[in-house]
Amino acid sequence: MSMVAGCTKTLTGSAAMKHERVRGGVDVLQIAGYLERTGFSCRGCGSCCRDDGEERWAVFLSDLELRRIEAAVTQPRESFATPYHETVPLGRGTEGTFGWSLRRKDGHCCFYNGNGCSIYHFRPWICRTYPFSISYEGPSCDLCPGTGRRMTRGSALTLAFGLVRRLCEEDAEANAIREVLNMITLPDNSRVLIDSTGVRVLHG
Ligand code: SF4
Repeated sequence: MSMVAGCTKTLTGSAAMKHERVRGGVDVLQIAGYLERTGFSCRGCGSCCRDDGEERWAVFLSDLELRRIEAAVTQPRESFATPYHETVPLGRGTEGTFGWSLRRKDGHCCFYNGNGCSIYHFRPWICRTYPFSISYEGPSCDLCPGTGRRMTRGSALTLAFGLVRRLCEEDAEANAIREVLNMITLPDNSRVLIDSTGVRVLHG
């Protein structure tokens, strides 16, 4: 067994929280086995970068990912990311959203250039690990034309480690957002974006 505990290093929470993370450790070899059994090889169709289905397309971005892309494209996050479209009521007339997603242009990701990803080496974890996802309950797979195709053990392991890394970053972002929420007082009657760096009031 090759267990990887859930990122206690990046968390600042209580001992109880750390215990939960360790208990929720994930098994990389088990994940790799699932990936191998499912099978996947990218066909380069680009459908994961476009609005092909009825479901609204959204790629979430952690603050770390936003910073990586900002550095790569030398543009501020507002140029390629937008507050996630779904909001929740937070009381006293205020509603909020909890993070950023990639901007879309003409029905596809703003970084999709017709042939592929223009920020391939800096693309977010969701893109790197698509069509797979992971939670502490285990991995899962979305519909994708590339699934069912033979995957080598080496590719499966690389992807499995990518999924664990993604889980760690998502977990760290979620914990940081919880800490922000515990520390701040939200303005009344506003639309706000809450991420791991703080709260922004959204206008327009
Ligand atoms: S960042 Fe790249 S891989 Fe991800 S959706 Fe956009 S174009 Fe596709």
